[in-house]
Amino acid sequence: MNPVIQAKGLQKSYGGHCVVDGLDLSIYKGECFGLLGPNGAGKTTTLRMLLGLIAPDAGTATLLDLPVPQAAREARIKVGVVPQMDNLDPDFTVAENLLVYGRYFGMQDSDIEARIPDLLDFASLTSKRDAKVPTLSGGMKRRLTLARALVNDPDVVFLDEPTTGLDPQARHLIWQRLRELTQQGKTLLLTTHFMDEAERLCHRLAVMDNGKLISEGSPRELIERNIEPQVVEVFGETSGQWADMHAANFAQRYEVSGESVFCYVPEAQPLVMHLQAQSTLRYLHRPANLEDVFLKLTGREMRE
Ligand code: ADP
Repeated sequence: MNPVIQAKGLQKSYGGHCVVDGLDLSIYKGECFGLLGPNGAGKTTTLRMLLGLIAPDAGTATLLDLPVPQAAREARIKVGVVPQMDNLDPDFTVAENLLVYGRYFGMQDSDIEARIPDLLDFASLTSKRDAKVPTLSGGMKRRLTLARALVNDPDVVFLDEPTTGLDPQARHLIWQRLRELTQQGKTLLLTTHFMDEAERLCHRLAVMDNGKLISEGSPRELIERNIEPQVVEVFGETSGQWADMHAANFAQRYEVSGESVFCYVPEAQPLVMHLQAQSTLRYLHRPANLEDVFLKLTGREMRE
């Protein structure tokens, strides 16, 4: 089976600075693939090249078996896009936004009208059909943007931070809808800063930094490959002193971040027993997660 999205040696520089640096990627039908990375890692530039919106300086990309950007127009007929910022038309109602967007794909009004009830149902916006965009909540706007991306019944949907700025209820509803899309056989490529989102939704992930993919696999593979299985977080004013004196006795690898010490261990029991006897410290023992992997691979320092 050919990949639905494929990149080979993609490269892009701006002002002499290489922002995407020899990127190889293969994404298959029905996959939800997540691209993770700190701000400035090159994620949006990668999406834009894979969509054929900008040309790479080197390398090749195909989207639905068509070369992009050369045949981008043709490929995008079966592609939906959920951009980072909602760019809905504020002068139009919910239904009119879908109608106008469908016309960009050359669809007949009658065909779009026929799809609108299902799209509104999918987005849980049936009762908002005639509402103007400025009256919608942030979650409703995101759902409308998602519904709009589906107006042409795409095979592939690109989503750039689909749930940024949403409350937990709104995020859960979007996640449920995205799962439904992959169950229908659609392929999703998303970027996100939420590790729980990536862990729950994505079949496979790639972590990107400084324009390069630094690790790729299923969420479980990334955790197993990159990090110790258990984490003990130690909190409290004296945690730094505790780390200086004791952490190395229990953990081969530990990190101090403010008043927290993150201890990464194969087996947490000896450390937990020790901490139980330390009355001035609090601790949390948990399995390692994708956020631990992300911070290990890309560091804890702020990028912007
Ligand atoms: P991410 O989506 O991971 O935050 P981007 O792909 O948006 O990263 O940006 C990667 C780098 O490329 C950043 O340093 C950004 O400033 C730069 N960049 C992106 N687009 C342009 C552009 N059109 N012109 C100049 N620099 C750009």
